[in-house]
Amino acid sequence: MTDPTTLPAPAAALAEVKARLAAAAREAGRNPASVHLIAVTKTFGPETILPVLEAGHRLFGENRVQEAKAKWPDLRARYPDIELHLIGPLQSNKTREAVALFDAIHTVDRPKIAKAIADEQQRQGKRLKLFIEVNTGEEPQKAGIPPKETAAFLAHCRDDLGLDIAGLMCIPPVEEEPAVHFAFLAKLAGDLGLAELSMGMSGDFETASELGATYVRVGSAIFGSR
Ligand SMILES: *Cc1c(COP(=O)(O)O)cnc(C)c1O
Repeated sequence: MTDPTTLPAPAAALAEVKARLAAAAREAGRNPASVHLIAVTKTFGPETILPVLEAGHRLFGENRVQEAKAKWPDLRARYPDIELHLIGPLQSNKTREAVALFDAIHTVDRPKIAKAIADEQQRQGKRLKLFIEVNTGEEPQKAGIPPKETAAFLAHCRDDLGLDIAGLMCIPPVEEEPAVHFAFLAKLAGDLGLAELSMGMSGDFETASELGATYVRVGSAIFGSR
């Protein structure tokens, strides 16, 4: 095995995050392979991302379409097996670019966006892995479907629009205990028969992993503060 002390900083941090993530999953009796680590690269340039690619990591997340478009086509040309997820809010006028660029979108949060994605997928002959963002804290200013409306929105996305909804995503309120929100999201996904759970960031990915996350979105713990 490579000695982590000889790796560039982001690659060493990646190895540590992976080890902590796997340990947390095992602790909860889960298979560590069922928790995918999305390395969140927003604000970071290719020079910071490359060591992580060279270390073999291929799953990345960005929160803005324009920023991703400026950065990832070049990196993809060098590493064709990169998988890129949109984890930030999507505006309908960016849907065409988003469907072209990303493999998954974690922020399907309203009927208008769901319809725009469906139309673009049809146009481009592409199907993305999609997550419904749930506003688990029911915060008025925050994106996401209210928990009580999630079942009806899921049915609309699937039955009316033919979208591949794989699971649910949440961003807990900053001042609250994330575990409560993760457990709530896991229960909701279970009730709806959805297998994937996108939850957990740098400060709480171990908790998320223990509570059933299948995708954690980790930025600063790998790449440093923004
Ligand atoms: C930036 C971001 C993350 C990663 O946050 P860190 O605290 O840096 O790990 C996760 N999810 C979303 C939606 C983000 O925008």
